[in-house]
Amino acid sequence: MAKKQFKAESKRLLDLMINSIYTNREIFLRELISNASDALDKRYYLSLTDDGKRIDKKNLKIDISADKANRTLTISDTGIGMTEKELESNLGTIAKSGSLEFKKELDDATKNIDIIGQFGVGFYSAFMVAKKITVETKSIHGDVAYSWVSEGEDGYTINTIDRDQVGTTITLELKDDTAEDNYSDFLESYQIQQLVTKYSDYVRYPIEMMVETQKPKSDNPEEFETVVENKTLNSMVPLWKKNRKKIKPEEYNEFYKSKFMDWEDPQKVIHYNVEGNISYNALLFIPGKTPYNFYNADYEPGLQLYCKGVFIMDKAKDLLPDYFRFVKGLIDSDDLNLNISREILQQDRQMKVLAQSIEKKIKNNLEEMLKGEREEYEKFFTNFGLTLKYGIYQDYGMHKDTLQNLILFKSSKEDKYVTLEEYVERMQEGQDLIYYACGETIDAIKKLPQMERLQEKNLEVLYFIDDVDEFAINILNTYKDKKFKSVNQGDLGLDSEEEKKEKEEKAKENQSLLSSMKDALTDKVKEVRISSRLKSHPVCLVSDEGISLEMEKVLSQAPNSQGIKANKILEINPDHEIFKTLQKAYEKNPDQVKDYADVLYNQALLIEGLPIEDPIAYANKICDLMIHANK
Ligand code: ADP
Ligand code: MG
Repeated sequence: MAKKQFKAESKRLLDLMINSIYTNREIFLRELISNASDALDKRYYLSLTDDGKRIDKKNLKIDISADKANRTLTISDTGIGMTEKELESNLGTIAKSGSLEFKKELDDATKNIDIIGQFGVGFYSAFMVAKKITVETKSIHGDVAYSWVSEGEDGYTINTIDRDQVGTTITLELKDDTAEDNYSDFLESYQIQQLVTKYSDYVRYPIEMMVETQKPKSDNPEEFETVVENKTLNSMVPLWKKNRKKIKPEEYNEFYKSKFMDWEDPQKVIHYNVEGNISYNALLFIPGKTPYNFYNADYEPGLQLYCKGVFIMDKAKDLLPDYFRFVKGLIDSDDLNLNISREILQQDRQMKVLAQSIEKKIKNNLEEMLKGEREEYEKFFTNFGLTLKYGIYQDYGMHKDTLQNLILFKSSKEDKYVTLEEYVERMQEGQDLIYYACGETIDAIKKLPQMERLQEKNLEVLYFIDDVDEFAINILNTYKDKKFKSVNQGDLGLDSEEEKKEKEEKAKENQSLLSSMKDALTDKVKEVRISSRLKSHPVCLVSDEGISLEMEKVLSQAPNSQGIKANKILEINPDHEIFKTLQKAYEKNPDQVKDYADVLYNQALLIEGLPIEDPIAYANKICDLMIHANK
């Protein structure tokens, strides 16, 4: 038969493909195997719908053979085959996918066939390694078999051939080896086996090859002989359906890295199956580090969803609660009802049941890690702990029971991570508050004037350095009936009855001094009072219960919340030298105390890391005081 030309565009496309689309020429084998698998799927599908075309599933397979002498590699399948017309249109037109058409032609309701092909280019990748390709095929729909032969750009010929078996045999005549390119590699048995496991391990049909192995001789087990055996190269069963005990850690790691595009091994693998209302297999991973885009809008959380081993959806969001959004992996269930477009039907109920079960599993795994592998857990927490803390704050605290035992804070006890449970367990006798302090860094917190007395009393203080911390703890309100207490708010309960009385008296005695200071700071503070939390420092700024100073800082960065302010209270240390100075100054000239109040207030703001309203006025006042002192 006369040689036919590829269509004009196709010619250019073919050239482009061979030279530039694929960087990795070994994928040609994956493409040819995928095509064979599609052809087998189609034949199987027909056998289910057409009684005349029944076939036993065990006769559906792919066969690979290499002939070193003739430099040929052959891939055969017992699939649906191609008619002359199909050969012409599917292999004669680049970028035309017969498989995609097959799928489109099916009645929508039965579209449940998992065809790989869709772009119509994979076949031609074989020209990266072959100088000549021969396709011999017989369609299940025809009596005549055909060959299609091409040496690349200059076209192809189609001829009739003798062939009984339905299916397709593709023979590649490999290119000659050059100094750089050793095409002969693809004839090596080990190389072929490796490529099949790498790319085509889950193809559902056996990929077979005759393989040489060493076996003990039957008459003399001491001696070995080389035997050639037919071997199935692919596992066919997906990793998540394999027996857990038979999976090596490297297998999980490789699977994770290739499937979820990470360079690093996962920190934890959670592999389980559930039998019940909805039965499913799950293979979940906690990444070894925070993904670079984890906090960006383009990070897409979700789990892959398979139904009966067939891929359905890449990022099923509803399967993961937001606070476990760092988990990657997949779920495979036989019990999901799919609709025509293969989105999930009965979304709510089925998905909810699934999601609840997954959440519980993840939670249990994290709790176990926290108990049994503390170091690992702390590493995990450094990567993803913020998400758990946000989870407590989210949805009006709905998830606090799930999450409160999973969060950690560094604390003043050795600067190490503690759980809330550990904190409460080692509270001092009579201590009934869980103390915390907020700041930009742990160092800044340590320097807070309010910390001194707590340290003196050896009370453990949790360090809150993330914006969300105080919000989350406010939602918790209590842990094991113990209230949380900011070192910056209200009564810390540090004074003995005696000390309390003493302070009350001091407050009474200095009533007019304190109220005149308060007058000077009318719009700024709610109260000026004697402090019971200071030791060596002169003043500090605290707040009423409710909005704290730290929250004011965080909220001021959010749009539309400029107006939300803490009720500030200026506290003065009655045992500090400055207090006597204030008393003296007040006796001499009550007006001067107003300037002092202003300076002290600004100092307190600075210590808290809050902006002062008028830095210039403040600086000038300090100067005046210095000048005054030396007159
Ligand atoms: P795709 O697989 O994306 O459709 P290909 O270029 O790999 O594109 O293949 C083009 C078409 O050729 C396929 O869609 C299919 O119709 C047909 N084809 C390729 N290989 C085979 C095969 N082994 N058996 C039957 N048909 C095949
Ligand atoms: Mg293909």
